[in-house]
Amino acid sequence: MAVAVTLDLLERWIRESAVRLDAAADELTALDSAIGDADHGTNMRRGFTAIVSKLDTAPPASLPEFFKTVGMTLVSKVGGASGSLYGTLFLDMGRACAEPTELTAAQWRDVLTAGVSGVVSRGHAEPGDKTMIDAFTPALDALGRALDGGESLVAAAAAAADAAERGSADTEPLIARKGRASYLGERSAGHVDPGSASTAILLRTFADVAAGTAA
Ligand SMILES: [Mg+2]
Repeated sequence: MAVAVTLDLLERWIRESAVRLDAAADELTALDSAIGDADHGTNMRRGFTAIVSKLDTAPPASLPEFFKTVGMTLVSKVGGASGSLYGTLFLDMGRACAEPTELTAAQWRDVLTAGVSGVVSRGHAEPGDKTMIDAFTPALDALGRALDGGESLVAAAAAAADAAERGSADTEPLIARKGRASYLGERSAGHVDPGSASTAILLRTFADVAAGTAA
């Protein structure tokens, strides 16, 4: 059975992401304390907690409205680069989303690709710069390969999550070339990039929710 990306699925994704980011907040902050300003975990927790209360009080009626709510909340509630970058991700996903109620797997890929392109334009990061792009880029590649190969959304989303987790782990030896961590130069090597780690959490959560194994 083909799984569509519905408003309900996306809401469950974001609500479960809030739970998992809350659980991972100390770990994300520890990563950010090694090479940044030690606020990534608390920033993501604050942002996603605010999104959940928005979803509770003013439930979006369409997919574009949903993405806009998530993006605007992240921009306004999350400080630093990550708020602006994750906000851009969701705002650009909303701009690319013409469907009011649900997306096919191929449309989901297009919408996610548009969001990641927005992040790249805003942050000017390339693969290997030790940023969230090091998780997003292999994830999009894996998602596309799986869908082109005839895999289901659930299988493709799992492949994307696997690739994001590998991509994040692979940032450990890299020297940061973007963001606050780049100020450390060679001392940024030896630590996983916190933005790539939160991206991997988001994409794993999407895969699990799509598979029905979470929330
Ligand atoms: Mg930080």
